[in-house]
Amino acid sequence: MGEDAGLLSKSKGWRIVCINCGKEAETERPDSKCKYCGDLLEVSISAKLEARALFEGRGPGIWRFGAALPFNSGTTPISLGEGGTPLVRLENVGGGLGLVNLYAKNDGQNPTGSFKDRGMTVAVTRAKALGVRALVCASTGNTAASLAAYGAKAGIKTVVVVPKNGVASGKLGQAFSYGARVFGVGGSFDDALRLVLDLVKVDKGFYLVNSLNPFRIEGQKVAAFEIYEQLGRVPDFLVLPVGNAGNISAIWKGFKELRANGITRSVPKMIGVQAEGAAPLAKAFVSRRKLEPLKEPHTVASAIKIGNPVSWKKALRAIEESGGTALTVSDDEIMKARSELGALEGLLVEAASAAPFAALRKLKFQKSVNVVCVATGNGLKDLADHRSEQTIESVDSARSIVASIGSAEAGCGP
Ligand SMILES: [Zn+2]
Repeated sequence: MGEDAGLLSKSKGWRIVCINCGKEAETERPDSKCKYCGDLLEVSISAKLEARALFEGRGPGIWRFGAALPFNSGTTPISLGEGGTPLVRLENVGGGLGLVNLYAKNDGQNPTGSFKDRGMTVAVTRAKALGVRALVCASTGNTAASLAAYGAKAGIKTVVVVPKNGVASGKLGQAFSYGARVFGVGGSFDDALRLVLDLVKVDKGFYLVNSLNPFRIEGQKVAAFEIYEQLGRVPDFLVLPVGNAGNISAIWKGFKELRANGITRSVPKMIGVQAEGAAPLAKAFVSRRKLEPLKEPHTVASAIKIGNPVSWKKALRAIEESGGTALTVSDDEIMKARSELGALEGLLVEAASAAPFAALRKLKFQKSVNVVCVATGNGLKDLADHRSEQTIESVDSARSIVASIGSAEAGCGP
């Protein structure tokens, strides 16, 4: 084992605690769960964060916010330059919805094309320091691609388990290209997760990097710092797709840390969007009941096709504490929003990432509020538009192309 052999030091300004019973974990747990009550663990940063130290930091990608991350200053990050993604104003889509301050945080521009890279750099850096033998995850695709890339960079073997035939081919191709061992399991993501939880119990050298892993959440929370910095204020609403519910919990944690340290005064209302056929969290929110897992989730948005979201408690807490909401959109609404983002804004997102934009029509915001939707994954991973190009008879067909578009003289000449 590496530098601190899995022992957590209390002198570093951070601890790992249970979200339910509050007890502290003295050693790293292979399944990332509390040994007393079995609930999720999270990192608690006890060091005071100063705005100056936080926003003037240096480092690759999200590591410029190292002051808020759970590491010693001497740690060398395993980084591919993740984070620092653009916040893009959407005048065209916003205009159609009557919203003048609509933005997309385009996390599809991360190194492997999804927000997962933010958390993966932190978890794999931690794993490297611990000296683990192999990294393992269950995935609907994006986590697999991200883990495989960061494992490759760290020189650690990677094992990913995916629902067989349930992953976009681009994402699977990424995992193979980065050198992962890929296994397909009959059933859903939730079955794949059960299998990897067994795997880390059988061999203690395997390190789990699903969003149960508290270090993943720490990397993902940095999106909140970036959004605040790029917008120059805290947005009124933050809208994001919800699958396993780790990201909404993570970004909420980031905004709460800004407020707790007196850097900001407010927090955004957190809005979680699920697909109609995979909406256990939205149902739990509306019914004010405990989450009931869904055995066979179905949606075109494979990244959020999850029936038993691991971080549901944290996510419900984020939504309730912030005064936000959770809602569902249909597959048709998702695909329509995806087309609009491409054709009106030049923004190509994967299906799951279109869910927040589809939800905007139902949310009835006032015109001038600041709304940030998180575009979690790049559309190149999951291209659904297979229309074929129009055939041109010969290279002398310039006039016929002009005619099909409508000539400049007729359309916009003086
Ligand atoms: Zn506990």
